[in-house]
Amino acid sequence: MGQIDLLFDDQVTFFKNGETKSLSFRFQALNNLKRAIKQQEDVILSAIQQDLNKSEFEGFLTEIGILYEEIDFMKKRLKKWMKPKRVKTALTHIGSKSVIYPEPYGVTLIIAPWNYPFQLAISPLIGAIAAGNTAIIKPSELTPHTSAVLTRLIKETFDSNYITSIEGDAETSQALLKKPFDYIFFTGSTPVGKIVMEQAAKNLTPVTLELGGKSPSIVHEDANLKLAAKRIAWGKFTNAGQTCVAPDYIYVHEHVQADFTKELQQAITELYGKKPLDNQDFPKIVNEKHFKRLHQLIDKDKLIYGGKSDQEKIKIEPTILTNINWDSPVMKEEIFGPILPIMSYKELSTVIREVSDQPKPLALYLFTENKQTEQQVIDQIPFGGGCINDTIYHLATPYLPFGGVGHSGTGSYHGKASFDTFSHYKSILKQTTKFDVPLRYPGSEKGFKLIKKFFK
Ligand code: NAD
Repeated sequence: MGQIDLLFDDQVTFFKNGETKSLSFRFQALNNLKRAIKQQEDVILSAIQQDLNKSEFEGFLTEIGILYEEIDFMKKRLKKWMKPKRVKTALTHIGSKSVIYPEPYGVTLIIAPWNYPFQLAISPLIGAIAAGNTAIIKPSELTPHTSAVLTRLIKETFDSNYITSIEGDAETSQALLKKPFDYIFFTGSTPVGKIVMEQAAKNLTPVTLELGGKSPSIVHEDANLKLAAKRIAWGKFTNAGQTCVAPDYIYVHEHVQADFTKELQQAITELYGKKPLDNQDFPKIVNEKHFKRLHQLIDKDKLIYGGKSDQEKIKIEPTILTNINWDSPVMKEEIFGPILPIMSYKELSTVIREVSDQPKPLALYLFTENKQTEQQVIDQIPFGGGCINDTIYHLATPYLPFGGVGHSGTGSYHGKASFDTFSHYKSILKQTTKFDVPLRYPGSEKGFKLIKKFFK
């Protein structure tokens, strides 16, 4: 029996003894998790810095602070969420009560990507714990320092029959996916999401898939251009564009294209300096393979800003490409790096049609001062979620469920949505034995007439 089989079986046994279900157990586990992260903040940040060159500020903001908020949010509301909920009972069910019981799925699997290697493994874990499950985490092999720190932290904080982390690559992931988990939470690319769903189907395991895609930013002619430029630059170049919800490309109204592009260049310079490659805090590309892939997307004929790279440090500076269309190579895949293509438009209806013709994006950002334009875009383009007059900030609040749709994902999490994701809602009808309404039984003519009257 291999390590995976043993750990899985241990978790199945531990879950069945019911310990993970009480409020006090869940509370304790959330407290322990937060304490462990606090104690090892420096080690975590240094590992992230080694893997991705994220500064302490960026690392704390995007990988740790957000987790503290999520844990505190859960703890405040958990007792209420766990309570069975009494709901109305239909007239046809007279005499009975209806109650919905949230219960944990059981043994869960969390597969995480490399771009926010700590946060994207721990954030779903918070949901799994809050809902009373056990969990096996499979962190990314592409960020080995962070994955090692995470695995050690989990080992020091929890018994492996409750929560454990198994390091490894796609092969390990595949081996895990063969086990009949009760729930699988996957964050990563769309192609691997398909593999995960296929494997999960073999055991009929429910899944959440947090995937990627090309998320547009639309800058309408009435937008506050200065703010739009600053917020797009920040959302795009945080983590050097290696963010699932980073604006992938921009559609700007042709009347404001020149002014907006100028503002965008200025915003980038203000945020990252005149020589971003020399900026110690500007993150690197995760590995050489991605560096080469991105490098090939920089079409020198379309380049209007940036474009330089440092092969040794595997860094690419914030880069803007213009005169792009849907046939350009940069528009054929999720960019996932610091390259920002710009397309222009005359009519908003064209943008709506062209974006809707693409796979549904994970996020969409619209910059406008007009409520009607806002509503038009929200109503007419399908996408996971997004912002009006901002970028990526919607994922940093526990009040908004976060997730994609179609090719960008299935299901959602954060805050209550995480609790819901990791809970099965068991519906129970509690029937009275004091009397027995005969209408539903066959043979009663009066009953049949009444039923027909009722279900008209
Ligand atoms: P990935 O799909 O390559 O890898 C994700 C995880 O899956 C890793 O742990 C990896 O070991 C495992 N894996 C890889 N190949 C596998 C296979 N064949 N079978 C089983 N498991 C396999 O993704 P990535 O490169 O780590 O992350 C980047 C992608 O993730 C981007 O597309 C990005 O948009 C997306 N992403 C989405 C979110 C979100 O919340 N929606 C967040 C971050 C990243």
